[in-house]
Amino acid sequence: MENDRPTTLPGTRDILPDEMPRWHLVEARARELFDRYGFEEIRTPIFEATELFARGIGGDTDIVGKEMYTFTDQSGKSITLRPEATASVVRAYVEHHMYRAGGATKLYYIGPMFRHEKKQKGRWRQFFQIGAEVLGSDHPAIEAEVIEMLLDWLRPLGVECRLLVNSVGDGRCRPAYVELLRQAIKADLTQYCEDCRRRSDTNPLRVLDCKVESCQPLIDRLPRITDYLCAECAAHFREFRSYLDEGRIPYEVVPRLVRGLDYYVRTAFEIVSGELGSQNALAGGGRYDGLSEVLGGPPVAGFGFALGLDRLVMVLPAEVEAAATRRPDLFLACLGDAAFHRGMTIARELRRAGYTVLLPFGATSLRSQMRLANRLLAGHVVIIGDMELATARYQVKRMEDSSQRELSLPELLDYLKGQAA
Ligand SMILES: [Zn+2]
Ligand SMILES: [Zn+2]
Repeated sequence: MENDRPTTLPGTRDILPDEMPRWHLVEARARELFDRYGFEEIRTPIFEATELFARGIGGDTDIVGKEMYTFTDQSGKSITLRPEATASVVRAYVEHHMYRAGGATKLYYIGPMFRHEKKQKGRWRQFFQIGAEVLGSDHPAIEAEVIEMLLDWLRPLGVECRLLVNSVGDGRCRPAYVELLRQAIKADLTQYCEDCRRRSDTNPLRVLDCKVESCQPLIDRLPRITDYLCAECAAHFREFRSYLDEGRIPYEVVPRLVRGLDYYVRTAFEIVSGELGSQNALAGGGRYDGLSEVLGGPPVAGFGFALGLDRLVMVLPAEVEAAATRRPDLFLACLGDAAFHRGMTIARELRRAGYTVLLPFGATSLRSQMRLANRLLAGHVVIIGDMELATARYQVKRMEDSSQRELSLPELLDYLKGQAA
């Protein structure tokens, strides 16, 4: 019944074991590094009340308008699979009164997100993000610190990346700029694409995001937000960049880089990787001081980022990948039933001593077992046959140079220790 076979849904995929070393590597490095900066992990539910995202992301965004997986559960409640995690993290921060602790709360998360995106190469409807949020500090230095952490994670992985920064102003200076932008777009309205024409009224900032070729020269001539910042926003942006300079972190100021939501303020940034092309940011983030209040919490400053792990894993250099691949230390070739029982005992001892040990499930002859050991890239093969059972001394073959020695189990453990040193 080939046609009746269930398969993955469009836009979803299985991440198979041979891809996993890369995922484990980037995740392990992130956990270790983020910990050094004082971040703690938080795990929020994968589904939440639809209202959280409608309020926290904004009703006029593509995410909320077109891309959310929303359904009604058995109790009649509207539920959504999370399309991102910032709203959830801020909800948790408010719900658990974490603000009472005072100072900055640093949280990070790793997990799947869900968006019903158009089918496109490298875009998944279940995709993975790692992100960090700092709640309770509006200091520009925290922004530079978070960006430094992100780059300190990516660069040693061999990922080539560029940092783009901007200030999107705040409630005092942005409204006047947005009005100016609206007028400037209106002046050439007929030359813009259909999406831009529509956005010029509802959310002119989003015109700056347009990727349509014919809109680019028009957008380049539009007024730049950085020329219209109020004194406080300008000072904040200057200070933020001075911390980047002090940390010798190169960046480009890109006035087009905006985030279209009302509660996004001041610093916005993206990290782009050459390998992905200019339209595909690896990570993006910014300051969202108003989000807590939008979600019914107290006024709390917030700054954070999200990074797409699927893309990061895709651009990892091959050397990094090879270094991450784990190979079994030993393969126990067992000839006959009694040898297999002995193999089980030896495997247990070796594993307790910290070695990766595999037994020959599914292979019987010595030849097929050796073939299996080769395919698994085992470092050593230990042969257990009638003779070895009787003497408790085993043939140990080092696969790299085919050298062979006869060792008892304690000698084997000493030998392995010597190999590792
Ligand atoms: Zn356009
Ligand atoms: Zn301002």
